[in-house]
Amino acid sequence: MYPSRFRYEAPRSIAEAISLLHEGGDEAKVLAGGQSLVPLMKLRFASPELIVDINNLPGLDYHQEDPDGTIRIGALCRHVDLERSALLKSKQPVMAAAAPLIADPIVRNRGTLVGSLCHADPQGDWASVVTALGGHVIARGPDGKRAIPMTEFVTGPFQNALAPDEIAVEAVIPAPKGTLAGGYLKLERRVGDFATVGVAAAIETSGEVVTRAGIALTGVGGSTISATEAGQSLAGRPLTAESIADAADLAAAAARPRTDHRGSAEYKRHMVRTFVVRILSRADGSVERAA
Ligand SMILES: Cc1cc2nc3c(=O)[nH]c(=O)nc-3n(C[C@H](O)[C@H](O)[C@H](O)COP(=O)(O)OP(=O)(O)OC[C@H]3O[C@@H](n4cnc5c(N)ncnc54)[C@H](O)[C@@H]3O)c2cc1C
Repeated sequence: MYPSRFRYEAPRSIAEAISLLHEGGDEAKVLAGGQSLVPLMKLRFASPELIVDINNLPGLDYHQEDPDGTIRIGALCRHVDLERSALLKSKQPVMAAAAPLIADPIVRNRGTLVGSLCHADPQGDWASVVTALGGHVIARGPDGKRAIPMTEFVTGPFQNALAPDEIAVEAVIPAPKGTLAGGYLKLERRVGDFATVGVAAAIETSGEVVTRAGIALTGVGGSTISATEAGQSLAGRPLTAESIADAADLAAAAARPRTDHRGSAEYKRHMVRTFVVRILSRADGSVERAA
């Protein structure tokens, strides 16, 4: 099917893009990689009257590290840039693990991490990763900039906290306080598929003690799930087989899976538990060897 008629604008500055969005109100949509929006428009699940293509905006295609270790990902940084990133491979194991698991190479060439967060698909992988890492989104609108914690950014399935005239200009991953470990595991029916179950887990340790932990779940609820209690249960003590098992049980309890053609709710909950144990056991080699 062809999309409905729409007006197309490709502004060359953020100020111009915001002004166009302001003018278009609820009928305007940002176009980034187009990998989610265009299919929706072709199916006429979305029929925006105005498309504001941000691909000509300068200086948004970066991902970089601040001197303090904070990582910033611009709105035009593609999945493929993150997949090939030496920075992520050396500094950010959770993002490095997720990047090659997003869709297929064609989608990764155009799709963006920030676009994925904005799309807020319950099966989107990046929202769980950024949630587990305690990240936030920087939005720019007519009134300036604001930071929105990832836990507040996704407000429901395919819904986010942006006003119609705001653009998400970057995602920010705070610097770890201590040594960072963790990863992302995804159960998919075939390579390149959306997640049947996905788990992102990040732990920061100082000496033997976990100083911060975040766990978030993909595809097992109406939107991305932050398994807050599971993360909190790990903090303030060493990582052991017992503490990992406790966190895995809490994460499984936080999941809200539904039985469908990809598996029973019970099976998906079991996979959440299994993935948490697997990621955290790898994060602490001594536990994996003991298991
Ligand atoms: C075949 C296929 C398989 C896929 N598999 C996966 C998968 O396994 N895992 C996964 O996570 N994703 C998957 N995706 C989705 C893919 O990751 C998309 O790239 C991503 O969801 C959206 O990013 P985008 O840049 O393409 O956004 P677009 O499609 O351009 O936009 C998506 C939505 O976000 C809004 N938006 C985008 N950027 C901004 C911004 N900067 N500010 C404000 N609003 C914005 C748009 O208005 C639109 O509503 C798949 C897509 C396809 C087509």
